[in-house]
Amino acid sequence: MKPSESVFQPELEILRLAEVICEKPPEQFDDLHREYLILTRHYAKLLKNTIKLTAVGDGAQRKLVRARNDLLQAKARLEDASFTDALTGVRNRRFLLDFIDSEVKSVLSHDSEAGDHNLLFLMIDIDHFKQVNDTYGHPVGDLVLVQFSKLVSAACRKSDTLVRWGGEEFLVVCRDSDDTYPAKLAERLRSQVDNHEFTIGEGRILRCSCSIGFAGFPFYPPFPGYFGWSQIIEMADQALYIAKKSGRNAWVGVQPGALVHHGETPPTDLHLARLYREKWVQFKTSLGDPAQLVF
Ligand code: GH3
Ligand code: MG
Ligand code: MG
Repeated sequence: MKPSESVFQPELEILRLAEVICEKPPEQFDDLHREYLILTRHYAKLLKNTIKLTAVGDGAQRKLVRARNDLLQAKARLEDASFTDALTGVRNRRFLLDFIDSEVKSVLSHDSEAGDHNLLFLMIDIDHFKQVNDTYGHPVGDLVLVQFSKLVSAACRKSDTLVRWGGEEFLVVCRDSDDTYPAKLAERLRSQVDNHEFTIGEGRILRCSCSIGFAGFPFYPPFPGYFGWSQIIEMADQALYIAKKSGRNAWVGVQPGALVHHGETPPTDLHLARLYREKWVQFKTSLGDPAQLVF
């Protein structure tokens, strides 16, 4: 007997009996009627049990769906936490490593000479932050870091990504910025930090400044893949240290120099002072004349 037939056995029996009853003379009805009643009761019992089982099944299914949703939410929270800096709540380096390759691919898949398909990397470092820790203690340093990251985050566009690069160093990654955005953003960040009163408890306030270096990808649009994203970050970092050496509370941006437009291939080394001397790169800075920069 097929399983489906065994499930419907009581119904089949009832039908069979109904057919038999119709064919039998009335004197034989008693026995058949009894058998018919027994089968009907048996069937009613089975039906009740089936209804109960279905209710249990529905409840179990609902619990399963709920547990699955909880699990998915927990997974998303865990993933988010692993991409987030515990102190400041901004993204961490791991997040950058996870998303940067697809960003770069997307930039390279467009004609970067034709539009604003680019990535901008701004490296920001708090000036003399060690003194904050030394003077007020590590917990106050932490308070400053949290407020600093909020300030920087608020000054950026929603589409920009703020990453805590390490210690008191932060990286902003911006997609599709136009020519004027890097300097505007760098100046906005520099001046807002410079003018901010950091609250450090017991009614005390503290003032800080920061230095910024930035560079864009692709660096040389005619050779889009010439410097990879990590080399552009390295350039931004070197520019940041030029800003530090040149007096701090300042920004320095690295841009391609004039030579590249003459069809020559730029050198691959990343020594900014040399690249500047040989006119492969030029600088923009909040300090005015790039010739005054200290390397
Ligand atoms: P510069 O202007 O040259 O950048 O000087 P600086 O003092 O800011 O730089 P330095 O690299 O000498 O010191 C950075 C300090 O940041 C030292 C380290 O103890 C502190 N620091 C790094 N991470 C944290 C953190 O999570 N919390 C606190 N409170 N301090 C941190
Ligand atoms: Mg510092
Ligand atoms: Mg630092």
